Amino acid sequence: MKKRVILLLFIILIMGAIFSLINTKGEKNILREDKPLIDALGQKNESKEAEGLSRKTIVIDPGHGGEDRGTKGKVLGTIEKDLNLKIAKNIKKELEERTDAKVILTRESDSSLLPGTNQKEELQARVKVAKDHEADLYISIHHDAFEDVNVKGITTHFGANKRKDKQLARIIQKAIFDQNIDTRNRGIQESDFHVLRENSSPAVLIELGFTSNESDEKRMNSEEFQEKSKKGIVDGIIHYFKISGN
Ligand SMILES: [Zn+2]
Repeated sequence: MKKRVILLLFIILIMGAIFSLINTKGEKNILREDKPLIDALGQKNESKEAEGLSRKTIVIDPGHGGEDRGTKGKVLGTIEKDLNLKIAKNIKKELEERTDAKVILTRESDSSLLPGTNQKEELQARVKVAKDHEADLYISIHHDAFEDVNVKGITTHFGANKRKDKQLARIIQKAIFDQNIDTRNRGIQESDFHVLRENSSPAVLIELGFTSNESDEKRMNSEEFQEKSKKGIVDGIIHYFKISGN
């Protein structure tokens, strides 16, 4: 008699377990198919976080390339054009993972767009990439240098009399430093750079640090900073589109 009771309890227990398993699976299916319900429950949406960017085109411009080396690091010998390309590719990958935006690099290898031409023509060609693709955003990536080796920090530049660009610069600069970056925040700056002045798309140029400063050069080459910078810049881009409402 006792054995029978134990057996019965055991069967009830197993059936209960099977029933709850089926039930959970059912719930999961409903959640997966019904996005508003996921949001209502405050659970993480499995789809990309910024579907609103699906019709956006973003041009990322790794500064310099080919014969134009850019700045050179004093201690580690960092070559600016190489680091610019690495960071630009990081941003492209991050954008493609987190959004549906179309992302275009002005160059994908160590070469200029128009080898053998002068700097002005080269910069015109870079701006033309944004125009040809009717880009919604143009982000140029650079690394600074200065004769005073103590000068360090990150600056985001925007063009004169460009309200949207200034707003974009402010958002991106803040988003970078929200990542707890260990260098000086040099803020945003109005600058007369060709790729900003001549651009018909909202554009900023980010100088991610000084290759002439030892601690900045080490930071910029570290995996930790490269993770933080790509996350910060992409956070900024997503935030910009959210609040600019276009
Ligand atoms: Zn540069």
